Amino acid sequence: MRPGELIAGDRGARALRDGDLSRAWAVLAEVMDPEVPVVSVVDLGIVRDLDWRAGHLHLVVTPTYSGCPATEVIESDIRQALEQAGFAEPALERRLTPAWSTDWISAQGRERLRAYGIAPPEGSANLRGAAPSVCCPQCGSADTELLSQFGSTACKALYRCRACLEPFDYFKCL
Ligand SMILES: [Zn+2]
Repeated sequence: MRPGELIAGDRGARALRDGDLSRAWAVLAEVMDPEVPVVSVVDLGIVRDLDWRAGHLHLVVTPTYSGCPATEVIESDIRQALEQAGFAEPALERRLTPAWSTDWISAQGRERLRAYGIAPPEGSANLRGAAPSVCCPQCGSADTELLSQFGSTACKALYRCRACLEPFDYFKCL
C-alpha cells in the first residue's frame, strides 16, 4: 500500500499516518533552496503545516521574499521530492499571511548559512530599521561594512569584512 492510500478508520491507520508525516518531513528536510543549496525548505521555515486531507498530503507553504523567482522552483521541487518518496499528488497551499520572516529560519539553518559563507540574519525582524551589526562568516570579525544593499540576489546585501577583507553576502532581515 502506498502512503497516500491509507484508509481512514483502519486499525493502526492513525499511527501509520503519523509515521508517514514524519517521513514526509524527512523528505522535505532534503529539499534545498535553489539559491542557497545548503539550507532546506524546513531550515528556512517556509513549510508552515503538513497534514493529511482526503488521502493526500496537504502542505501550507509561505514563500520567502514575495516575488522571489525561486518560489515556483521551490514548490515544484517540493512536489517532485514528495512524489518520488511515494506521496501521490501532494497539495500545496500558498499562504502569504503572515508574511515569511527571517525569524523563522532555524538555528541549524543559520549555522548552515554561516558555514556556506553567508552571514545569517541578525536580530529579529521586529527590530528592522536599526543597522544590524553583521559578523563576517569567514573570520567572525564584527568589523564589517555595507558595500551594497543588493548582493548576489535581491534577498541579500553585499558586505565586506575590514579584518580579512573578504566580501560576503548578508541574508537580509525581513
Ligand atoms: Zn572576515
